[in-house]
Amino acid sequence: MEKIASFTVDHNKLRSGLYVSRKDSCGGVTVTTFDLRLTAPNREPPLSTGVMHTIEHIGATYLRSSEAGGDVVYFGPMGCRTGFYLLMFGDLSGEDVLPLVRRTFGFISAFCGDIPGASPSECGNWSDQDLDGAKAAAAAYLAELASPRLEY
Ligand SMILES: [Zn+2]
Repeated sequence: MEKIASFTVDHNKLRSGLYVSRKDSCGGVTVTTFDLRLTAPNREPPLSTGVMHTIEHIGATYLRSSEAGGDVVYFGPMGCRTGFYLLMFGDLSGEDVLPLVRRTFGFISAFCGDIPGASPSECGNWSDQDLDGAKAAAAAYLAELASPRLEY
């Protein structure tokens, strides 16, 4: 099997940032996959599953409710727990989505109340949540986004 594109990035040199991971086109429609990298792979501890899960729930809810919601294809965690993938309709750059990503992580970092979708009927592991940890991780990433790395 051919190595998929995201495995060709040297993860030992990768740092936090907002990167274009790949672009896929079909039937005249382009989808851009962004690598929202929160921690340095293999050098910083990965985020806990609870932190990842809470960021996923709040982030996905915010993104889909935002003015850009119709352009959002998917937002979800990387299995290595060092970041998230954001898939958007359009042939886009990091600069294009930076304001949206800043708003999303600003929203998560300030979130109060019940985590959306965190009930047994709505989620497959509903109690694995860490709101305080998610807020801290979102605040740290938001600080990185003040002048983020946009190129691998
Ligand atoms: Zn869930």
